[in-house]
Amino acid sequence: MSTVGVLALQGDVREHVNILQSLGADASEVKKPDQLSEIDALILPGGESTTIAKMAVRFGMFDPLRSAIDDGLPVYGTCAGMILLASTISDSDQPVIGALDVMVKRNAFGRQNESFEAPVDVDGLDIPFEGVFIRAPWIEKVGADVEVLAAIEDHPVMVRQDKILATSFHPELTGDGRIHDMLLDLV
Ligand code: GLN
Repeated sequence: MSTVGVLALQGDVREHVNILQSLGADASEVKKPDQLSEIDALILPGGESTTIAKMAVRFGMFDPLRSAIDDGLPVYGTCAGMILLASTISDSDQPVIGALDVMVKRNAFGRQNESFEAPVDVDGLDIPFEGVFIRAPWIEKVGADVEVLAAIEDHPVMVRQDKILATSFHPELTGDGRIHDMLLDLV
């Protein structure tokens, strides 16, 4: 059984733990650097990326997260988690992990569209995924090694780079475990 850590500094940690457990994985909250050695994969949850980044600085998490991901720890970032993984955020200099070679735009869908649900066609899934978007980012540029797995109106909303997965939307709020399963398959 795989142990999947959920970075538990802020955000929708509990929802990820619940869906992981429903898939038969062992889920544990990660707050300190030494806990990174006890897990087989990691989730960076949705929430507020500025707050998560501030807490990560305070808890000394940035460098340990970078090295764990460099060493091949499979990782999945949802929404704010995707922002933290990105190498660049347009119009912001908040700290990032930088492991995923993309430029993201925060709150990209605009005010009228702050939160919405839409079916998302995901490469490798035969039935569309119900995407829950909450003040979601989209991806503006992708690096050469990044595969776009889903897009909305030409804006990438799901990508993979080797063992890094990221979505603009929140599968943990839907009860549909297919994307979390993709993470488990990377272990
Ligand atoms: N807008 C948030 C941010 O910039 C992300 C929102 C979310 O995770 N649902 O961090």
